[in-house]
Amino acid sequence: MARVAIVTGGTRGIGEAICLALRDMGMAVAANYVGSEERAKAFSERTGIKAFRWNVADHQACLDGVAAVEAALGPVDVVVNNAGITRDGTLMKMSYEAWREVIDVNLGGCFNMAKATFVGMKSRGWGRIVNIGSINGQAGQYGQVNYAAAKSGIHGFTKALAQEGARFGITVNAIAPGYIDTDMVAAVPADVLEKIVAKIPTGRLGQAQEIARGVAFLCGEDAGFVTGSTLSINGGQHMY
Ligand code: NDP
Repeated sequence: MARVAIVTGGTRGIGEAICLALRDMGMAVAANYVGSEERAKAFSERTGIKAFRWNVADHQACLDGVAAVEAALGPVDVVVNNAGITRDGTLMKMSYEAWREVIDVNLGGCFNMAKATFVGMKSRGWGRIVNIGSINGQAGQYGQVNYAAAKSGIHGFTKALAQEGARFGITVNAIAPGYIDTDMVAAVPADVLEKIVAKIPTGRLGQAQEIARGVAFLCGEDAGFVTGSTLSINGGQHMY
């Protein structure tokens, strides 16, 4: 039986590349999304991957969403917590709503999805959870107290849950991408982005597929002895 995987925020950007990588490994993949139904439909037609709409910040919606995926594809073995948003601004300009929303989607989404799937993985003695953190959660970033806190929280969440899953065949790991060429980075002003790229040792942005290959490794049968780890994929930027 093919492993069943859910990728949150899976219909574009890094999430889409992850869906394709897991599909190419032979998994039955469900792509979660929250926004445009039209885009999700086009994604499904393009890739043959089913898309399921729910908000990862909504606890009950995650429980219901996972139930819908399981009804369609079978018990979930793999969860990739990739859904993420930014609402940048310095602390003095950041609203409470911008703080809450970023924490609820990026970090709360990991909790909600783990709650919805961990027990099933435990009962079957096998599971893979991969959480997408960020270099900005490791190093901090001006104008991103919300995002840096959420992503930093993901790295702690990963190490704590890895300890709870280890005896049951469930591995929990994180990937900390550097700057990757997606819509999220396209929103960064050009002059700011130029300065960022100048600091990346490889001298370029990363590609979504370069993150997806790391996720695929961590989700594979061969990665059973890797847990509680964070894989930095950032062109060497974490050294500076
Ligand atoms: P994009 O902005 O291109 O895509 C974000 C994805 O998250 C979309 O699929 C979106 O769904 C989904 N999403 C947002 N909010 C929700 C929600 N409430 N419920 C469900 N899905 C949601 O981002 P990237 O592909 O660039 O980023 C993917 C992940 O990688 C994020 O966690 C991001 O923080 C992280 N990351 C990205 C970096 C980069 O340089 N790009 C660097 C470091 C980390 P929809 O399409 O329906 O709107």
